[in-house]
Amino acid sequence: MKKQDVFQIYQDCILNTYTRQPRIFVKGKGMTLVDIDGKKYLDFFPGWGVSNVGHCHPRVMSAIRDQVSKLIHIPNNFYHTQQAKLARELIYQAFPGKVFFCNSGTEANEAAIKFARAYGKGERFEIITFENSFHGRTLGSLAATGQKKYQEGFAPLPEGFKVIKFNSWPALEKTISDKTIAIMLELVQGEGGINVADRAYVYKIREICDKKNILMIIDEVQTGIGRTGKMFAFQHYGIEPDIITLAKALGGGLPIGAMIVKKKIADTFKPGMHASTFGGGLVICKAALGVLRAIQKEHMLKNAQKMSAYIFERLDALKARCKIIKTVRGIGLMIGIELNIEGKAITEECLNRGLVINCTHNTVLRLMPALNVTRKQADKALHILEKVLLKFS
Ligand SMILES: *Cc1c(COP(=O)(O)O)cnc(C)c1O
Repeated sequence: MKKQDVFQIYQDCILNTYTRQPRIFVKGKGMTLVDIDGKKYLDFFPGWGVSNVGHCHPRVMSAIRDQVSKLIHIPNNFYHTQQAKLARELIYQAFPGKVFFCNSGTEANEAAIKFARAYGKGERFEIITFENSFHGRTLGSLAATGQKKYQEGFAPLPEGFKVIKFNSWPALEKTISDKTIAIMLELVQGEGGINVADRAYVYKIREICDKKNILMIIDEVQTGIGRTGKMFAFQHYGIEPDIITLAKALGGGLPIGAMIVKKKIADTFKPGMHASTFGGGLVICKAALGVLRAIQKEHMLKNAQKMSAYIFERLDALKARCKIIKTVRGIGLMIGIELNIEGKAITEECLNRGLVINCTHNTVLRLMPALNVTRKQADKALHILEKVLLKFS
């Protein structure tokens, strides 16, 4: 198929819900992508935070190959070993709890919302969420999302969500009521512009949740699976949430979502209260085990921490020389560069020069390289980024 034919078919046959860059990728390995013309790119935003272990990691590929040759789907009214192994591994990494498997981030959050409602027994049902949060596109997760631009035109949304200012204690104190059943947050707001939750604030949320028997739900869809240099972002904060939701990087590129709830509340869900036809399928669970093993065996968390320090140091130095950079922030390899101009032209120019990055919230460039990024790859990316940023300064 020719390039122009592909673009034309997309225009004719695919609903126009995405702003797309005119690139057709055909191959990927680690941090490298190859397009249909044979041009190579360094991918510093792999799959919106999906490919944390790089594209086509050998452990993920062999897990998928091995499983598809044996059995692909078994419904959830039977058992299989891959789901058992993955659940055990996730709980071991997170906290003593139980897992519900689904297929995406928004579904994981829907599960958490339903779980909270069930926990509230109809007496308490309000969920507090935050400005500039992002929890997904289905109606429940959309109602939880604290950004009007995603909600416009889809009213009425499910009720019971209170959106308040992020990192503000007075706002939280004022909003908690005897109807509150959960507080749901990202510890680093991804789509909202890489906004990091204050440590003391998170600690106080944990305290008030304990005091009032409110569920603390942490959306780790983007921050999870090593993105911040620890397996989960909550592990930076010295607290344990009641529920975490996962998706993006967990499947190594295949779709999966998961909700993990603390053991002592796990019996809130009883048979029939929630379900997913594909959730926790054999192939995806085996792929996810490959991802977790790759992170562990190849010491990727350590590498992510080391490379994070290096990249932040380089970006801070660049900031001093580049007047369009306002701030540099983030944790681990979840890195935001806030500009005082719009970032779209910069991401496009980087793409032309063979570097894939992202811009969120109009002015925040987002870098999320794979956890096994090397110093050489970082240098190359930073070199391109620096040239482009200085050109626009
Ligand atoms: C991407 C994302 C979601 C939604 O995930 P999907 O798999 O696209 O439904 C939810 N929460 C956060 C924090 C995300 O980054």
